Amino acid sequence: MDLLPEECRTAARAVQPKHVTVIGAGVAGLTAAHELERLGHRVRVLEARLGLGGRLRTHAFTPHGSGPIAELGAMRIPAAHHRTMRMIDQLGLADRVRQFRTLFSDNAAYVETPAGHARVLAASPILVEEFRKAIPPDRDCRAETLLCAAWLAASVNAIAPAKFRCTLEADLNVELLDLLERIDVRPFIVRHGADERIDLNRFFANHRDFAATSRLQHFFDDVITETSSALFRLEGGIDQIALRLAERLRGPVHRGRRVEGLHVTPDGVLVRQRHGLTTVTTHCDYVLCTVPFSVVRGMELSGLTADKTAVIHDMQYWPATKIAVHCREAFWEQDGITGGGSFTGGLVRQTYYPPVENDPRLGAALLASYTIGPDAELLDRIPARERVATVLTELRAIHPELARPGMVLDAVVQAWGEDPLSRGAASVRWSKDVDTAEAERALAAAPQGRLFFAGEHCSTAPAWIEGAIESGLTAAAAVHACAPPAIAVSVNGFQHVSGGAA
Ligand SMILES: Cc1cc2nc3c(=O)[nH]c(=O)nc-3n(C[C@H](O)[C@H](O)[C@H](O)COP(=O)(O)OP(=O)(O)OC[C@H]3O[C@@H](n4cnc5c(N)ncnc54)[C@H](O)[C@@H]3O)c2cc1C
Repeated sequence: MDLLPEECRTAARAVQPKHVTVIGAGVAGLTAAHELERLGHRVRVLEARLGLGGRLRTHAFTPHGSGPIAELGAMRIPAAHHRTMRMIDQLGLADRVRQFRTLFSDNAAYVETPAGHARVLAASPILVEEFRKAIPPDRDCRAETLLCAAWLAASVNAIAPAKFRCTLEADLNVELLDLLERIDVRPFIVRHGADERIDLNRFFANHRDFAATSRLQHFFDDVITETSSALFRLEGGIDQIALRLAERLRGPVHRGRRVEGLHVTPDGVLVRQRHGLTTVTTHCDYVLCTVPFSVVRGMELSGLTADKTAVIHDMQYWPATKIAVHCREAFWEQDGITGGGSFTGGLVRQTYYPPVENDPRLGAALLASYTIGPDAELLDRIPARERVATVLTELRAIHPELARPGMVLDAVVQAWGEDPLSRGAASVRWSKDVDTAEAERALAAAPQGRLFFAGEHCSTAPAWIEGAIESGLTAAAAVHACAPPAIAVSVNGFQHVSGGAA
């Protein structure tokens, strides 16, 4: 499998094999390990968890995966993410690619408005009215521009986390109008009897660059991506990407090995890892660390430059929490909802209705709540054992069926901000301008001696699988191109230095 673009393969001629230790068996680590082996190097992977995939986490509600599953980490792949789509093809998963239905894609789903919950189809007049109140009273604009702006604002409201949307609301609304006034949005109006709404999917497909001049381009790009119709999922679970990659590795993937210290030396890196009660320090010729910086900053580090240490400590991460419920049946179908998601608001924020793919007698999974950033922090403040009850009580306002005896069979909570091996869901560059974001990325990805870095946080597509793959391939090419050690420092490249019981 050849995942590296041609231009990055400059140094792909046969060279002396290097011994590379990859830390982390998420997408970035597994992609890099695979690519390094393909380039002729010897690789071992150290992973702290017992499972593989990192932030690709597919939860099966029944044994052997025969029943419903819930995606507790990544769940959708934008069609424009070519590296991810290519990897899916090359891993033999193309026949499992299905359309992912997103927020507001179903007319029967719900959207929270200041006047209460409304069905998507009937929400336009309320959203337009609310939008009008938020812009200067003397601001004049066409009715269709208002309709489009109101739906875009509703999407921003559904996707952006609290602090961000509050600070930006007024500016954002005026900026939206300015951007939209230059576009004829009439072709994207959809009418159902007396109701009309904007088909945001088609609008974005035709105007992908409409936010290119905005200072909030990064943010708009993500809103556009998340509300696009060109999104995919993997039937059977997105973690298959990681599992298939791991199956193809020749070198070992050591699970349950938590790295606690990284010390850059002139001829390699000293890696301190804990395995059960034992702590071992090993000299490694080359190390590629794919652990999120939110976790790396808790490690013992030495030999790094001051600016590298600063970016590790300062990089901003946002939490995200998902609460998925195993239901006796897909009750939402009787309510007319065939899929997609509702913006429920409150503590719940987003609710998704995944399709029932396995035996329906085994029930259906509902992604009851998906929160990010400060909204996730708010939810995480509720004691873990009460979180599910809080969310289900709120959600009953639109789905009273949840109160039926025997409807809820099980629930699972994944709070990424509380996960000690993640300490956040993803790095955030939304509020940064393009140059600042790129400077931060370049510094994050910059190697230190023979210590290399990858992971979504080192990429141009942070918070996406695409970014993890991009960074893994780039780092593998950098390790490959790096001059070999002048002096052989160890027999096998992973020389044991010291050890002891913790
Ligand atoms: C809730 C949520 C929703 C998302 N939705 C999407 C989506 O829809 N589409 C999309 O494309 N992307 C999505 N993402 C982002 C995507 O999941 C990530 O960008 C990607 O999986 C990151 O991969 P990575 O290899 O960089 O990091 P990780 O997957 O975090 O891999 C790092 C690995 O390092 C391990 N590790 C940590 N500490 C140590 C240590 N001390 N020693 C050894 N190992 C360690 C971890 O266990 C982990 O396996 C989402 C993420 C979250 C959390």
